[in-house]
Amino acid sequence: MSRNNITFFLSSIIYTIIPKKGDMRMTTALSLEQVSYSYHTMKQETTALSSITFDVLSGEFVAVVGPSGCGKSTMLHLIAKLLPLSGGTIKINGVPIEESTDHIGYMLQKDQLLPWRTIYENVTLGLKIQNIKDPEAFDKVDRLLELYGLKDFKNSYPSQLSGGMRQRAALIRTLALSPDILLLDEPFSALDYQTRLRVSDDIGTIIKEKKKTALLVTHDLSEAISMADRVIVLSKRPGTVKTIVPIHLTCEKKTPQAARNAVEFKDYFNQLWREIND
Ligand code: ADP
Ligand code: MG
Repeated sequence: MSRNNITFFLSSIIYTIIPKKGDMRMTTALSLEQVSYSYHTMKQETTALSSITFDVLSGEFVAVVGPSGCGKSTMLHLIAKLLPLSGGTIKINGVPIEESTDHIGYMLQKDQLLPWRTIYENVTLGLKIQNIKDPEAFDKVDRLLELYGLKDFKNSYPSQLSGGMRQRAALIRTLALSPDILLLDEPFSALDYQTRLRVSDDIGTIIKEKKKTALLVTHDLSEAISMADRVIVLSKRPGTVKTIVPIHLTCEKKTPQAARNAVEFKDYFNQLWREIND
């Protein structure tokens, strides 16, 4: 085989193994099919979710909105395997979650940092629990701390940081484990309005730059429109998928902050508002 032929042979193997960037977006990272869930207490049964079906593509940012109590948190709990799936199927990268070994990052409304541990001890907690000793993982944490302006606060305690800084620390702790999928449950709602805009801008940009697949639950329609590629609207309890709205904004800088100034923003807001209050 000539050298040219060998090069061609090798590059065609690599081509078949590594999908093109465009193709990667087309793979389904998360799928829910006919997912239902009921809570059982001594007194009653509460059906929280009914027949939820949707897909999230790899690298896609999807927001979920819906009335309070419609089952948004329940849905994330099921995906994160914090609740046992009783009806329907959830797959991560094509594998049912019961068998999946892919890592899911879950960021909650409260930053859940441990007050008696320093920021560094907090952001490396997941690595310690999982007994990960790989120096690369710790280097990554150092890089993220520097990148997100927390390097000088490594030895501070959570109480010495602002709400926005704590939320960024919580994100670093989540990203440290290199999750395949990020679940975010109203992660900014504990912050005051100004901080929320800044932090959602920050975190939205970080997640998009890293091309992470993300599912964000929020009650803030502006946040959903400005951050997501698609918005899923759930009905009131028991939550069902009422509609899914793809978001296409024309704006120069594709940051959540810039998105709020796009001409289409108001129409999306009105459309989602009508769907939720219908
Ligand atoms: P959301 O996040 O959309 O506000 P949740 O998923 O927290 O809604 O809750 C959905 C419904 O399930 C609510 O009516 C809530 O009262 C009920 N629920 C949630 N957690 C429990 C539980 N542990 N036991 C019984 N009912 C629950
Ligand atoms: Mg909730």
